[in-house]
Amino acid sequence: MNIILLGPPGAGKGTQARRLVEERGMTQLSTGDMLREARSSGTEMGKRVAAVMDRGELVTDEIVIGLIAEKLEGGGGGFIFDGFPRTLAQADALGALLDNMGQRLDAVIEMRVDDEALVARITARSTCAGCGEVYNDISRPIPADGTCVKCGATEFTRRADDNADSLRQRLMEYYKKTSPLIGYYHAKGQLSVVDGLGEIDAVSAEIKAALDKA
Ligand code: AMP
Repeated sequence: MNIILLGPPGAGKGTQARRLVEERGMTQLSTGDMLREARSSGTEMGKRVAAVMDRGELVTDEIVIGLIAEKLEGGGGGFIFDGFPRTLAQADALGALLDNMGQRLDAVIEMRVDDEALVARITARSTCAGCGEVYNDISRPIPADGTCVKCGATEFTRRADDNADSLRQRLMEYYKKTSPLIGYYHAKGQLSVVDGLGEIDAVSAEIKAALDKA
């Protein structure tokens, strides 16, 4: 089963993708994670996209489609596309890539949340440096002993683009360039909407119900 998690920054796509990996053995493909990895390993491409990411703008379709194509080359299935596609051109490219592999997209889950909740979530967000587990100062704080519940690491990072200015731009990009994908996948009969504002377990249950129907 191949699925897309669609939603604005802070909707909880990464958290839910990680759950699907654990529970169903699916493979998470996050273009945001791939780009951050390219940045931290200092590749030419990583250097080129760093400033764009920090401003909260989208990097070019060519770069992200290339990253996804590379991952799909190895074959397999059971992909969760997290943060990709973000434009109609990316959606078309993904359709073509899956077609070429003889695979299909089974479901697109839109995680719906309101903007105010996003600002609160994103500015309180931190990530385990060891395993990428996501924490939130308010709803899911780092344990009092300062160790990650998943891997025991003691270092946590905040994303450079998780600040108010970047977030405003990321939301603008979402509404201008990504939200048209809601209509696109709805028209194809592939869209399910879940309430992204609920507790993590409740959102997971809604996603499970949507996937069972797909
Ligand atoms: P994310 O971790 O998904 O929030 O992505 C972080 C940043 O990486 C975004 O704000 C963009 O600058 C860039 N990015 C990630 N995925 C894409 C994509 N599919 N298309 C364009 N830019 C992307």
